[in-house]
Amino acid sequence: MTFRGLIDQRRARLLLQAVLRSGRVAHAYLFVGPSGVGRMTAARAFAQALLCAAGGDDACDRCTSCRKVGAGAHPDLRVLTPGRSEAGADRRAVGIDQVRELKREAAYPPYEARWKVFIVEHAEAMRAEAANSLLKVLEEPPPGVVIILITESAEAVLPTLASRAQAVRFSFVPAPEIAQALTARCGVAPERARYLAALAGGRVGAALADARSGEEPFERRREVVATLAALRSADVLVPLAAAEAVARQKEDIERWLDIALLWIRDVAVWQETQDPALLVNLDAVQEIAAWAGGASGVRLRRAAAAIEEAKSHLRRNLNPRLVLEALFVRIARHADRDGVRRP
Ligand SMILES: [Zn+2]
Repeated sequence: MTFRGLIDQRRARLLLQAVLRSGRVAHAYLFVGPSGVGRMTAARAFAQALLCAAGGDDACDRCTSCRKVGAGAHPDLRVLTPGRSEAGADRRAVGIDQVRELKREAAYPPYEARWKVFIVEHAEAMRAEAANSLLKVLEEPPPGVVIILITESAEAVLPTLASRAQAVRFSFVPAPEIAQALTARCGVAPERARYLAALAGGRVGAALADARSGEEPFERRREVVATLAALRSADVLVPLAAAEAVARQKEDIERWLDIALLWIRDVAVWQETQDPALLVNLDAVQEIAAWAGGASGVRLRRAAAAIEEAKSHLRRNLNPRLVLEALFVRIARHADRDGVRRP
């Protein structure tokens, strides 16, 4: 992985490449930002450049060292990922046993390269015991050791740990950059790329995973739009049945809501502008236009707000079926008067 593999994140890249050029490498870095925006990609690129035999501000991607990093087999690079605890349970954070092993390894000089790099994922979720143990390493860092902590927020990391690390900030990737990457890297057609990019909400990793999954994105949307259309029915049982069906999708519920939101927003945008350049569902302009003809702008905005609210309720772990029932009843009631109506 090189910095060429990083999408956007210009500020972080410039900072890290300046470090590589100057050779003034800190013992610890805190890569802060939302998941799926390239923190891990940047960490691997930085590590590979540090270990690369050619030196410079990016890895050559050709030398023996680079090839070993690429194969996940470089002895001077360790990635600590929350795995299973000694008791065999899945865990959310790197555990004390993993940090102890890091300490043992850090005590020895690098095997082959000038540096020995450790990447710690989900640093924000580390328990106090593990974080304090890691702090000991940072208080007296062995020469040549570089530790990269990856976290969603700097505040969630033990303050004494965060204060010893240089912060590198990552932000959501703009949709046009994501769309471009999808087309350039995965050969996704521009229309589809634009849609997937909007759906990814700034998380380029999610968009790339979607593109590589081979799932037909518009197929899924057809289901969502059909459900939204069905909600205009006067039958009071329709919202309840729809909620039950969507709730069964479990991990995909938020995605379902995002698809619905993009659709409703497009309908509202079309109503205001009739400008296809502003649509996300570019392939469905005619259908969007037809929806726009039969819907009230106020109702569309209320439906969009209701979906946002449902998303935040789900994030707070409220019962998905109840959240969806409440949402669909609201949308249906809006539709009932003069809202979302299919021609
Ligand atoms: Zn190299």
